[in-house]
Amino acid sequence: MGQGSPGSMNRQGLPGDRKPDGSDKKEKKFEPAAPPARVGRKQRKQKGPEAAARLPTVTPLSKCKLRLLKLERIKDYLLMEEVFVANQENLKPHEEKAEEDRSKVDDLRGSPMSVGNLEELIDENHAIVSSSVLSVVGLLQDEVDPMVSVMKVEKAPLESYADIGGLDAQIQEIKEAVELPLTHPELYEDIGIKPPKGVILYGEPGTGKTLLAKAVANSTSATFLRVVGSELIQKYLGDGPKLVRELFRVADDLSPSIVFIDEIDAVGTKRYDAHSGGEREIQRTMLELLNQLDGFDSRGDVKVILATNRIESLDPALLRPGRIDRKIEFPLPDIKTRRRIFQIHTARMTLADDVNLEEFVMTKDEFSGADIKAICTEAGLLALRERRMKVTHADFKKAKEKVMFKKKEGVPEGLYM
Ligand code: ATP
Repeated sequence: MGQGSPGSMNRQGLPGDRKPDGSDKKEKKFEPAAPPARVGRKQRKQKGPEAAARLPTVTPLSKCKLRLLKLERIKDYLLMEEVFVANQENLKPHEEKAEEDRSKVDDLRGSPMSVGNLEELIDENHAIVSSSVLSVVGLLQDEVDPMVSVMKVEKAPLESYADIGGLDAQIQEIKEAVELPLTHPELYEDIGIKPPKGVILYGEPGTGKTLLAKAVANSTSATFLRVVGSELIQKYLGDGPKLVRELFRVADDLSPSIVFIDEIDAVGTKRYDAHSGGEREIQRTMLELLNQLDGFDSRGDVKVILATNRIESLDPALLRPGRIDRKIEFPLPDIKTRRRIFQIHTARMTLADDVNLEEFVMTKDEFSGADIKAICTEAGLLALRERRMKVTHADFKKAKEKVMFKKKEGVPEGLYM
């Protein structure tokens, strides 16, 4: 109860001595008397026999909790740091060991050797050595098949039917056999027949077989894949048939397409008992070609045009019905066709007034379309040589003689004279 007495003392007139921080207002209200009473109680309890065993309560409580939390966090952080440092120390020898192993493997591998030329000895320890410098010449793409480079792929060639002189019947036939199945396959379905898989063009050299094939591709906007038969014969065993397969695979990928195989006689000759490995390889290439012709659907977007100068030597298996059974003959041009071919090839030339092309049209010499083209080109070159802007009749005459001479030169009899 002694607690009450100081409070009463305050009230009695000794305020400043006891509580310097207590305000006068509080004293007047009598309320602040409660806290000192609690303090007094504690003091009394501490004095008891049990009080000694108890831990003192640190006030204010909330502040201590916050502090504890803060310290706990610091402890956690330090613990984490300790673990991290310990781990670092554990890992360090491991890394060092790995580094050591790596250097050992490098030592075993050794540095790459390169060949150099000893240019000059400077002294006992020094010399000038020149070594070749490597350079990147090109980057290979992911899938480059060297086989594909053999075939020439053209997206719709520029030659059109208008560039062909004569050959009306041949144009009509190829339109029915190749063009119509590509552009209007439903017509064949309506009638209930299978369109031909392709055609074979045969005749003298230079009569316009390649030209017509290109014109078909042009009018159908089909991709034109051109291969020469001799290119199908490859050096290594199995490469020829592989190339044929590749050819038809590419044609299928780029469909609608026209596969044009020129000089087919190089692979498609009649089969005899083959003696050498090379002959057998040619036969295998041809068999693969037959296999591919049988394999692809005739209503597909791939058509085959074969061309040859020697149809009589071809294997009948190639030309049997169901394969390439449509044969189109290309004869040497008649007078009317010759006139037309001359017109086509001189259309862009500047001709002098004296030029009379009829003389060459009516000549008895045998000309192919390619010969006529050669005469026109040669005449133009002669005019160019003399720096003339116009091509004269004399140029044509000289050009014709030259072309005819070159043609006869190629005849084997000349060799035995
Ligand atoms: P080869 O059998 O030797 O392969 P080819 O019959 O395929 O010969 P092309 O390449 O078509 O002959 O013809 C050679 C050139 O002759 C053509 O580029 C073309 O300019 C010309 N030519 C041939 N025939 C005609 C033609 N009827 N009309 C116009 N030009 C023609």
